[in-house]
Amino acid sequence: MTEVVICGAGIAGIAAAYHLAVKQGVRDVVLVDERPPMSLTSDKSTEAYRNWWPGPDDAMLRFMDRSIDLLEEIDAASDHRIRLNRRGYLYATGDPAKRATFQETGERAAALGAGPLRIHRGDGHDPVYTPGNAEDWRDQPTGADLLLDPALIRRHFPYLTEQTVAVLHARRCGWFSGQQLGAYMLEAARAAGMRLVNGRVTGVDAPGGRVAAVRVATVGGAETLATGAFVAAAGPLSGDLGRMLGLELPIFSELHLKIALEDRLGVIPRDAPLVIWEDEQFLPWEAEERAALAEDPASAHLLARFPAGVHFRPEGGHGAQTVLMLWAYHLAPVAPVLPAPLDPEFPETVLRGMTTLAPGLAPYLARLPKSYMDGGYYTKTQENRPLIGPLPVAGAYIFAALSGYGLMAACAGGELLAAHMTAAPLPAYAPAFLPSRYDDPAYRRKVEQWGSTGQL
Ligand SMILES: Cc1cc2nc3c(=O)[nH]c(=O)nc-3n(C[C@H](O)[C@H](O)[C@H](O)COP(=O)(O)OP(=O)(O)OC[C@H]3O[C@@H](n4cnc5c(N)ncnc54)[C@H](O)[C@@H]3O)c2cc1C
Repeated sequence: MTEVVICGAGIAGIAAAYHLAVKQGVRDVVLVDERPPMSLTSDKSTEAYRNWWPGPDDAMLRFMDRSIDLLEEIDAASDHRIRLNRRGYLYATGDPAKRATFQETGERAAALGAGPLRIHRGDGHDPVYTPGNAEDWRDQPTGADLLLDPALIRRHFPYLTEQTVAVLHARRCGWFSGQQLGAYMLEAARAAGMRLVNGRVTGVDAPGGRVAAVRVATVGGAETLATGAFVAAAGPLSGDLGRMLGLELPIFSELHLKIALEDRLGVIPRDAPLVIWEDEQFLPWEAEERAALAEDPASAHLLARFPAGVHFRPEGGHGAQTVLMLWAYHLAPVAPVLPAPLDPEFPETVLRGMTTLAPGLAPYLARLPKSYMDGGYYTKTQENRPLIGPLPVAGAYIFAALSGYGLMAACAGGELLAAHMTAAPLPAYAPAFLPSRYDDPAYRRKVEQWGSTGQL
């Protein structure tokens, strides 16, 4: 009899296995995946993290703060193996009206507990602005700095367009190696006795509404694992696992793409933070290009208004030139198709949009430099909060719907799932992520009027 069977060796399943086997001492954990670990969605991530989350309450902020505490613990215990940094997220705008919006956002985040907001107006009474440390997370400020002084913005972020009128630098944010995090937890879980099985979960037997066995198809044939506990951690395929349990899960998927571009002209400094342009925009085109596009119905969409949120960050250590670039403008819910279909227009579109905030990138439009495109699915709930906890079938649990934050949430999510399964004390944010929250009509009404979901 296996104590726990987990389906999915992405970051969620691995974090669940780590917390069960290593932290809670569960002896007989089996992790089943039909693919190599971390190879479906978890290796497509930008690997960034933030404690910068909107309300309506502080659940996401507290959850991510806990996850970042655990990331820091692992980075310290592993001699910086996961290369956790704390460069911050830099939200930038060229819209004077957004100065007030940024200040409100910073004040709201401070009220929820993200740390103080420091405003830099250039009026002689400013607090000190401490730039991010490119490699280390220790001894860094919390909260955020709002830079409204154009001279200060230009001094620290000279690559941003001169149109930039405000930047909000959220500080308990940065990035790390997600692959190393996965490898670290997987190795530790295996050392604690966890077994990895290469196979496909094809069914869960739950006679009388209680998990009794998990059926697995392997290269060698079929295996039935007798168990009383099953964890669904199947990323974009979670809906299929739900149906195996007779459940329709409240999730959907969006396709998100990214490019890795070789910045051989060195336009983006290697110590830059993650930079996000907060303004909608029309792509910058020359007049003749615009006229030609307007004549071709197949290209008219390139003249339309594009959403805010185009973002980049440098990637790689000393000597690297790579810059990751993302822009979520494909936002319709889709049925996940694997491998994720790539849009050949995406690299040029994202680069063109990026020249709006970093005009120094414009020479690359004449001849697109070497770039690599990949992508995957944000599988999510309507209010963009995860599903972590028991399902309505006894012995079945879920750790999924991790949207665009699964790497950063993995540690606290795995800890929370393991606490549910071992009856350990639950943190205050646990109810916010229970699948059963939707049984409450008042919660469903709240979801309809949610406001910002904090998606990037
Ligand atoms: C472009 C992009 C950028 C992102 N950027 C960030 C970021 O900056 N920071 C961040 O924190 N997150 C980011 N994310 C989100 C993050 O990558 C995901 O939330 C996370 O990887 C989800 O992990 P998972 O373990 O739930 O799913 P997955 O990694 O998809 O793992 C699920 C696993 O389940 C297995 N599986 C499914 N069904 C079965 C079955 N029946 N039998 C056996 N195995 C099965 C699959 O083979 C797979 O290995 C980004 C995502 C994308 C696409």
